[in-house]
Amino acid sequence: MTLTIPFDNSYARLPNSFYARQAPIPVRAPRLVAFNEELAQILRITPGDVHEMAEAFAGNTLPDGAEPIAQLYSGHQFGSYNPQLGDGRAVLLGETVGTDGIRRDIQLKGSGPTPFSRRGDGRAWLGPVLREYVVSEAMHALGIPTTRALAAVETGEIVLREGPMPGAVLTRVAQSHLRVGTFQVFAGRGQTENLRKLTGYAIARHYPEAEGPMGLLRAVRDAQARLIAQWMSVGFIHGVMNTDNCSIAGETIDYGPCAFMDSYHPNTVYSSIDRMGRYAYSNQPDIAVWNLAQLATALIQQVDDPEAAVEEATEIVHAMPGLIHQEWQGRFRAKIGLDSEEDGDEALITDLLTRMAHNSADFTNTFRALCDDNARDQFLTPEAFDEWAVGWQARLAREEDPQAVMITANPAFIPRNHRVEQMIQAAVQGDYAPFHRLTKVLARPYTDQPEAVDLTYPPTEKEVVHATFCGT
Ligand code: AMP
Ligand code: MG
Repeated sequence: MTLTIPFDNSYARLPNSFYARQAPIPVRAPRLVAFNEELAQILRITPGDVHEMAEAFAGNTLPDGAEPIAQLYSGHQFGSYNPQLGDGRAVLLGETVGTDGIRRDIQLKGSGPTPFSRRGDGRAWLGPVLREYVVSEAMHALGIPTTRALAAVETGEIVLREGPMPGAVLTRVAQSHLRVGTFQVFAGRGQTENLRKLTGYAIARHYPEAEGPMGLLRAVRDAQARLIAQWMSVGFIHGVMNTDNCSIAGETIDYGPCAFMDSYHPNTVYSSIDRMGRYAYSNQPDIAVWNLAQLATALIQQVDDPEAAVEEATEIVHAMPGLIHQEWQGRFRAKIGLDSEEDGDEALITDLLTRMAHNSADFTNTFRALCDDNARDQFLTPEAFDEWAVGWQARLAREEDPQAVMITANPAFIPRNHRVEQMIQAAVQGDYAPFHRLTKVLARPYTDQPEAVDLTYPPTEKEVVHATFCGT
């Protein structure tokens, strides 16, 4: 069988100034280590033999119809504007329209230098590639919008990071790679015509019902508000919410130093480069609003009546905290088993979270244990839970089927940092069993899987991962 990808490319039809034509740079000895058949089917891809797929997903051969490009964008990194970023280690092979009618990008990440690489080598090492594979697929299974992983290939080459590491390429699939930073780059350069073209393209591709730049802003706001609330509801910390990592389609994108919390604390930060805690767990809603404000600023540059547009954009951005809060409430209400809405619900939720923070309660396990009413064991001082549970039980008495609500809102399995690290350590030694086990178990995060109970355990003191790295 021959690998075929029914490419139907649209981004490569946009003006040349949107990207650089750039083929992936071949690698020495590609070996396919993961291939996502279920996703391939959605993309209408016909798989080929293993050797052929290794060559293609390493970028050594180009499947028919591919038109590789490195996309241009800019962005705010930790609050300061960088006027040019762009794909420095990725190329977009092209797009397919899936069996579900959705157009998606197929991108190789780690595929070698591009005109946007700056001082980087354009490569990725195996650790972050497998990490993104596992975590993005886990996010998808959790029901959270995200880019996905189609394939991972070891390159047979060494990449220099903290030391010599095995190189790898990830094939990433996204509803698009349009970011806030894609708009910023044209706005920043005063290229109004390009900005208009990009706006039209984004609307047609993602929000056909949206009207004009302000309609797009509103649609992105709504998608991002839902996304951030979903992150919060599973204890996810993105870690590097720069505007170039903020997707217009509202997907989670760029799994660098991201992490799921073990024990709950609102100020949790894992990323080694986030020294000020800008992207801490509980800061994420504020940062999402900040990012949307940057999109608003960029979009306004194309409007004929800027004064009216500024007023409308301000109103759109100012409504975002309320929307996130509303989404957050809905998610957390479900997490404690509430389908209906009552006035005291929010106080009940925040009281539980405060007690969890004081008791180093494991975020995932505490909520999951609520389903069987044995969450008290998760607290250093179980009485702290008992006190809360009195009011909770009284509230649950007015609910029809709280168990059913909780079991689909509280996953049993998340990709815990220490398990992801152990999986990477094993893979570096050539042992892919932990990788395959993690991917399989995390594909059904809301289903109890007794044979995988060890994957629900928080890390022991020795296993705790204190910091995560971008992996660049
Ligand atoms: P990220 O932190 O992954 O969002 O990347 C920020 C920017 O740095 C993007 O423009 C990347 O393409 C670029 N970049 C990251 N790592 C590398 C690398 N190893 N070589 C070249 N460019 C890179
Ligand atoms: Mg990025």
